[in-house]
Amino acid sequence: MPEGDTIYRAARTLGQVLEGKVVTRFETTFAPLSSIDDSTPVKGRTVEKAESRGKWLLIHLSGDLVLVTHMLMSGSWHIYRAGERWQRPRREMRVVIAVAEFEAVAFNVPVAKFYTARTLERNSAIPKLGPDLLGTEFASHEARARLIAHRDEEIANVLLNQRVMAGLGNVYKSEVLFACGVHPFRLVSALRPAEIDCILERARTFLEANVKDVMDGRMVTYTGLRRTTRASDPGARLWVYRREGKECRRCGATILMQRQGQGARSTYWCPDCQPGSG
Ligand SMILES: [Zn+2]
Repeated sequence: MPEGDTIYRAARTLGQVLEGKVVTRFETTFAPLSSIDDSTPVKGRTVEKAESRGKWLLIHLSGDLVLVTHMLMSGSWHIYRAGERWQRPRREMRVVIAVAEFEAVAFNVPVAKFYTARTLERNSAIPKLGPDLLGTEFASHEARARLIAHRDEEIANVLLNQRVMAGLGNVYKSEVLFACGVHPFRLVSALRPAEIDCILERARTFLEANVKDVMDGRMVTYTGLRRTTRASDPGARLWVYRREGKECRRCGATILMQRQGQGARSTYWCPDCQPGSG
């Protein structure tokens, strides 16, 4: 399953390529989408925005039409220059949105539906999202306010809550807390203001760096190489994530892992660099 932050990066990349452009071609293998395209064509509409909400990816088109896809296990969006050869067979194509220079192709997405602003608002399965950390300054103030409001919860769980801030997945959760020396099981109410500042700042810089990385490649929803350490060796790109039992890159202590929160997500930390709550 692609992580929330993978879908987030996919949406950002799609947005950079598609936003403000007029759709020159639309194709799909989903009959309900085709029938809407027949009566109210997608071609000729302008792509207004691409956004992620948790595991959902939304492409807003002019004329009150929103294409919503869910990736589940197998789906991915790719971006190609016009005429470029696809890296997946055509039979795996589910949706194509082409603009003048690019085409965005959804392969194997199991769920794709059109909504209007109103029907989208009514659909409770598609979550409303917290502020985008790569957005405005206001967004980061808002993220801080929402984070602090979860005072009785463990910080690692709050970082995964997409209504607190959008885009941070399970990998960055552990990496951000390591970078700030914060034990993942500490309650939000026990954090010092400087620690909260650090968490918000690192979350933003990690997301930013990895959005840039993704622009070099065009396969926008693959796991990608998330990187937080700045090491050029791809084997050394993360501090703690999936490094249980290995030596801390900073102090040499043994990295720990424990399941945490809803969905028992894996959390990694260094017991020396991130002293416990006690
Ligand atoms: Zn350490």
